Amino acid sequence: MERKYDLNPNHPGKLFVISGPSGAGKGTICKRLLEEADIELSVSMTTRAPRNGEIEGVSYFFTDRETFIEKVRAGGFLEYAEVYENYYGTPKEPVIDRLREGIDVILEIDIQGAMKVKENYPDGIFIFILPPSMAELRKRITGRGTETEDAINLRLSKTLSEISYIDKYDYCVVNGVLEEAVSRVKSIITAEHSRVTEDVSALIEKYEEEL
Ligand code: ADP
Ligand code: 5GP
Repeated sequence: MERKYDLNPNHPGKLFVISGPSGAGKGTICKRLLEEADIELSVSMTTRAPRNGEIEGVSYFFTDRETFIEKVRAGGFLEYAEVYENYYGTPKEPVIDRLREGIDVILEIDIQGAMKVKENYPDGIFIFILPPSMAELRKRITGRGTETEDAINLRLSKTLSEISYIDKYDYCVVNGVLEEAVSRVKSIITAEHSRVTEDVSALIEKYEEEL
């Protein structure tokens, strides 16, 4: 299969893509994964204004529309999308470098971006995070206190259409009790590293030699 990017399935690292409605807890889960799993998070670029406490180069690379569009033209993104009236994109090089080095990478990106990655890199593992209920979603997104009321309503109004893409994902995790959700995502990572792949034939050859 011809691939648009130099991402390819022979890279030893695995690419995990996490999406879900705003407020479902993607960021919270990813933060825990960084602490507890052997995985790196891709830092996206966005034209959204930084929220209180967000750190340049850690939370996002914050930029203006012009610079963002220049980077799009230069082919610098693995994917990008306009989400809730701002641009967001995954810088290409760092992801490819990590995968080549055998390091697993998480992309925490919206559904449009995830679908673009899937078209070009079906070997990615796609995980959808769901809230336990709409009431809890509203409570979390409001409780986070980072968006205006208009921005919250815009985000909530997109939820049902976002959830309709769930069947394009490989896994879904309901983020009710945080510990359980984190544990499930970690189990998915472990399971994906236990798949039967070409590596198994090398192992079998080794057994044959040892016999
Ligand atoms: P997202 O990245 O999906 O937009 P966040 O990770 O920012 O969502 O979470 C939204 C809010 O919900 C945050 O205030 C976070 O602390 C809280 N939250 C996340 N997961 C849980 C959970 N399992 N139980 C209760 N609150 C949670
Ligand atoms: P937030 O503004 O809450 O940080 O993010 C808004 C949405 O943009 C979330 O659904 C988040 O997953 C998504 N997002 C963050 N970075 C990227 C990215 O690089 N590409 C795409 N397509 N979506 C992103």
